[in-house]
Amino acid sequence: MNAPTPPLRPFIVPVFIPHAGCPHRCIFCNQHATTGQKASMPSLIDIRKHIDDFLAHRRDPDRYTEISFYGGTFLGLAPEQIQLLLATAAAYVRKGLVDGIRFSTRPDTIDAERLDLIAPYPVTTIELGVQSMQDDVLVRSARGHTADETRRAVALLSDRSFGLGLQMMIGLPGDTTAGALATGRQLAGLTPDFVRIYPTVVFKGSPLARWYLEGCYEPLSLDAAVALCAELYLIFARHDIPVIRMGLQAGPELAADSDLVAGPFHPAFGELVRSAIWQDAISRHLEKEGLRGGEVVIEVHSRLLSQIKGQHDHNIIALLNRHDLRAMEVRAKDAVPEDTVLVNGVACRRW
Ligand code: SF4
Repeated sequence: MNAPTPPLRPFIVPVFIPHAGCPHRCIFCNQHATTGQKASMPSLIDIRKHIDDFLAHRRDPDRYTEISFYGGTFLGLAPEQIQLLLATAAAYVRKGLVDGIRFSTRPDTIDAERLDLIAPYPVTTIELGVQSMQDDVLVRSARGHTADETRRAVALLSDRSFGLGLQMMIGLPGDTTAGALATGRQLAGLTPDFVRIYPTVVFKGSPLARWYLEGCYEPLSLDAAVALCAELYLIFARHDIPVIRMGLQAGPELAADSDLVAGPFHPAFGELVRSAIWQDAISRHLEKEGLRGGEVVIEVHSRLLSQIKGQHDHNIIALLNRHDLRAMEVRAKDAVPEDTVLVNGVACRRW
């Protein structure tokens, strides 16, 4: 829907502006804890120094690169501040050091006036923190916007040439599996260029932490979050919408010393989800091919070996048990495409 679309895996120079521009605090959020950064708005000198340092560590200077303002509500900032930040980043684009600018913002900050304000600057990608398309879940999370406002924001953005990313969360208070899947289907219907899925975790200092300690909120277990994310991933995959991230990324999105209280955090969360999707696909294939009780050889591209086996051979053990297999061997074979495995020589696709 948006052209030209920047590559899906750009080199990102993240500039964190924790809670800057946010009208209030959503109940699950503590960006200071997430990013480990105390100041809401770093000075322009600090921003330039940070960008220079980051670019100095870019291994491939030809890689498509975006300066990204994360951690706050970019379009909720005062217009002069938006212009100052964009002008600072745009100087790097003019010098040919980066290719564009990206930022994340709330759906209710998208309007024609603000889009006109940023039009002179080389903004390439906008990410909307949607979180849910269930109005009651949005209310409980104190988001302060509705699902309709998300639809309106996406419609406004579709008239402009930005790459569009949508972020959703699972495990928010009051949400259910059915609700999260409905959110996934509705977001897929909005045809973004990519999505991110974040399981809700509890950060010290967030209102949710108080609810958790008072016994009013229970986060998803890791297993439940992985299973739900796998279903959502498949919804987006069937619509050819890339899921570029599942789970907070240790490092850029979650400082090592962050105050995580509870919740389904795992440093390789996305890998767990992709592994669960393969386990399910292979299980259905074994059933369909009548391989119960037999011996199975699985051939996969070497890049997929760990995903197919699962962490600590989790998938192998589960499949052996579920199908009473006598033996299962997983072998690398780079001639096999990465969306397929060969099970005793017969192709099994991921979905
Ligand atoms: S979730 Fe987004 S809008 Fe809400 S407080 Fe955090 S950064 Fe601000």
